[in-house]
Amino acid sequence: MGVSRTDVINIPKNVGAAKTTTYNWEGSNYPLKIDNTVAKLVTEIINVSEASPDKSYTSVIMSGKSSSGKSTLTQTLCHRLSCAQKIKWNIKWFDRNNLLDLGKIIDSLEKGLRYILIFDDVSYVLDSEQVKPKQKQELAAKLTYIRHDLGGKVITIMNIHFMTALMPIFRDADFKILTSMSYVDRKNWSGILGKQADYQLNTFQKQYASQMKNHYFYVNGVKREDGKGYAYYVNKPFRCALVSEMEGVRTLLYPKEGCEVCAKKKEKTQTRKEIPASDYFKKAIRKYPATARTAIRYWAYFTLGRKDALPKNNKASIQHIMKVAQEYAVDEDSLIEYIRGTHHHNPIKIPDGTL
Ligand SMILES: [Zn+2]
Repeated sequence: MGVSRTDVINIPKNVGAAKTTTYNWEGSNYPLKIDNTVAKLVTEIINVSEASPDKSYTSVIMSGKSSSGKSTLTQTLCHRLSCAQKIKWNIKWFDRNNLLDLGKIIDSLEKGLRYILIFDDVSYVLDSEQVKPKQKQELAAKLTYIRHDLGGKVITIMNIHFMTALMPIFRDADFKILTSMSYVDRKNWSGILGKQADYQLNTFQKQYASQMKNHYFYVNGVKREDGKGYAYYVNKPFRCALVSEMEGVRTLLYPKEGCEVCAKKKEKTQTRKEIPASDYFKKAIRKYPATARTAIRYWAYFTLGRKDALPKNNKASIQHIMKVAQEYAVDEDSLIEYIRGTHHHNPIKIPDGTL
């Protein structure tokens, strides 16, 4: 689609200053600037890791909304960093429940090996008000000494949605990668990456929007023989991201790569004891049996995303509530005050009739 052999042959010659290469996918060669390759990023990550002082680890933070490619890019990076290299790394995927248990995770890992530790979807943990400043400090301290504690090279990859309040330890990540960007994100990233990144942020915003709307995007300087922009079709084979590393900000074109070894597998960290479902249920409702039966259904619905946890009528009512929430706006504080008024111990008369 949109890529002919003539295109491929002609583009690199056309570009002039920027050196180009090609990526072979399903039997065809796709052109891209060397600056935009995963290979360049991987070389940089390895160089930083090799050059880093004994106590330091190499950190990658990846930010973007759900389904914008964070997991895909994470696996592509792991595949290139380890599977495709002579020196192998131990690749460990953790989820958001694990990050605060970092100390226990470190204790459970064999010492003296190379690790890539991936924490997928951790913005909830880092942003949540339930996580106390002290816990965040402890986490930052654990991360600071992770290389020392594990006694081998460590690369961490943390995947987040956008956060307005990045903890300094993440703000200082060696590599920051954006897989999506909204208008609001753009302003925030300008604050984090500095004004000098504005041009690239603007470019990425256009590329990302085009990727979503048109399913293709352009990269500055990559042209067809007739001088028109060369269109990259999404996932055929690349998606577009923005990389910020020590020396600047640039476009990254990443394909989907991977194998069994680097595939996302949930690591058991043995921080929580697994118990039978019936025991779990009993423990959960024991303290407040009258109300907890309903509460645990909603907990499963919202926290675990299990729609089948709710009886039919509750499901219908919550879906209706969500529909109203989509259609109308409301002053949150007034609504909460009103809801509190409907609590049993604090009854107010609810107006009758149709609304
Ligand atoms: Zn692999």
